[in-house]
Amino acid sequence: MGYSAKSDSGKPRRNVLIVEDNDVNREMLHSILADEFNVLEAKDGLEGLEQLRQNYSSLSLVLLDVYMPRCDGFEFLRQKRSDERFDSVPVIVTTASDLREDEIECLRLGANDFVVKPYNVEIIVNRVNNIIHLRESASIVNQLTWDHLTELYSGEFFYRYMHDFLSSSQAGAYDMVCSDITNFKALSDRYGKANCDRMLQELAKRLSFTLPDVVAGGRIANSTFAFLIEHQDSRSWTDALMGVSHGLIATNMSLKFGIVENVNHGLAVSLTCDRAVTALEQVRETFGVSVAWYTEDLHARQVREHVIVETMEQALAEKQFIVYYQPKYDLHTGETGGAEALVRWIHPELGFVRPDFFIPLFERNGFITNLDFYVLEEACKEIVRCREQGLRVVPISVNVSRLDFDTADLAQQIAQIANRCGVDHSLLHIEITETAYTDNPDLVVAALQELRDDGFVIELDDFGSGYSSLASLNMLPLDVMKLDMSIIRQAASLDDYRIVRSAIQMAGFLDLKTVAEGVETEEETQRLRELGCDMIQGYYFAKPLEQKQFEEYVS
Ligand code: C2E
Ligand code: CA
Ligand code: CA
Repeated sequence: MGYSAKSDSGKPRRNVLIVEDNDVNREMLHSILADEFNVLEAKDGLEGLEQLRQNYSSLSLVLLDVYMPRCDGFEFLRQKRSDERFDSVPVIVTTASDLREDEIECLRLGANDFVVKPYNVEIIVNRVNNIIHLRESASIVNQLTWDHLTELYSGEFFYRYMHDFLSSSQAGAYDMVCSDITNFKALSDRYGKANCDRMLQELAKRLSFTLPDVVAGGRIANSTFAFLIEHQDSRSWTDALMGVSHGLIATNMSLKFGIVENVNHGLAVSLTCDRAVTALEQVRETFGVSVAWYTEDLHARQVREHVIVETMEQALAEKQFIVYYQPKYDLHTGETGGAEALVRWIHPELGFVRPDFFIPLFERNGFITNLDFYVLEEACKEIVRCREQGLRVVPISVNVSRLDFDTADLAQQIAQIANRCGVDHSLLHIEITETAYTDNPDLVVAALQELRDDGFVIELDDFGSGYSSLASLNMLPLDVMKLDMSIIRQAASLDDYRIVRSAIQMAGFLDLKTVAEGVETEEETQRLRELGCDMIQGYYFAKPLEQKQFEEYVS
């Protein structure tokens, strides 16, 4: 038998099994089908069952004779039906004449169609093709409809089916509940895929029972389920969700829920799910809180975020980003000793947007690096402008995001910008945070070393704000330590400067200059001066200033 993967027409060739004891009939069927199919043969029901066992997964159809010695067609069908692995293989029965009782018995036993002897080539080829086509499309629908692991709907099908459901039930009110295991990756690393699959299975089952008035549920991502439920008037039903993961795999499983109440029937279901997941994100890291609702505020924020991401590139091209400069006051000389470049966005629709709002977004989508290069160039131009106007020239520091270190030749690119503008490298300070170091220590150390060798000054930003580690202090090539505003604020409010003092001492051991951020009062200034701090940056001396104001300030 010549096997090949494709027929002449280019369609993949299907395998068809002929079960027939009569040599002439078998030969005839074989020659009718051999053009289009790979044909397997069996001389009676027993051989046929054996072939079925070996080949069921690749078999598209069986052509079955009814009367055969040893094991007839009826018995074949009975045996076939007892093993559900064989369900996917359809059967066409070939009968000698139109014996009604035989046909009915075969149908009862699961046959799909008949052909009557003597054979008609056209009829046989077409019936075989029709049945195969029918079965394959049904199987595709089946695959697309169900998530076989959890027996929930597949994501795609859930979206489509719920869309149809919601468009046809305008009157009803429904809530969308999405769940996610936020530490799923860690769990599957630790417990393995098979265990996690079992856990997802059990969780899907429990949720289907625990959630009230479920319309349908789907698995919309690896560990994310979505359930449409009838709208609940009170929110107390969510109490029951607390126990739902009890005893599953790991006690530290972090199962979170996001809920959209009264879903908008006109909104794409996938967007409704996105909103539920957005709500869920709000409690992703919050210990002890597992349920969050999608609120108006969250919606407004999402809209703003969307506008921001949509308009950021145009904004950069149109110079909507404005760089402000906040002077740093030198406690030794009593003069301005430098300034920090801080970016603002004057958005045509949203107005003044704070960097706290857009920088984290840009750090998520990578745009921050473009912006940082822009700010660097603006800072260089400002230095040149001051020089040309005969003003005092002070070093300007720029913030370099941890993401910028993904740029392979960061140090060279920074140097190029400075050189092109004709700015001495010592006039540019680079502010980095410790998180840059913890993300990617080797890369960051190498890039900073290169910058420092090339004459730039490196400042460690936000020291004391989070997880300051002595390791990074020791490893990073630094010149300046900036004490985070939070430790200054805390010292001032408790009137206890011990932490500030030890930070300044530590900087001294490491030969680093110190800048205190967020200094707002005379009293704070005095205390910092006594502790030996070198510079002060804060509202007490100056807020971040527009270019013109800044130039007046240093003149
Ligand atoms: P940062 O680098 O720690 O900047 C200091 C922030 O403290 C600035 O907020 C500044 O306006 C504010 N500030 C200064 N003095 C005082 C004070 O006395 N009291 C109070 N309450 N605040 C004070 P801003 O300008 O809103 O910037 C926020 C953060 O955004 C910055 O924190 C920095 O992390 C980031 N950022 C700003 N511009 C850029 C940039 O061009 N690139 C990057 N990557 N990040 C930037
Ligand atoms: Ca900074
Ligand atoms: Ca800072």
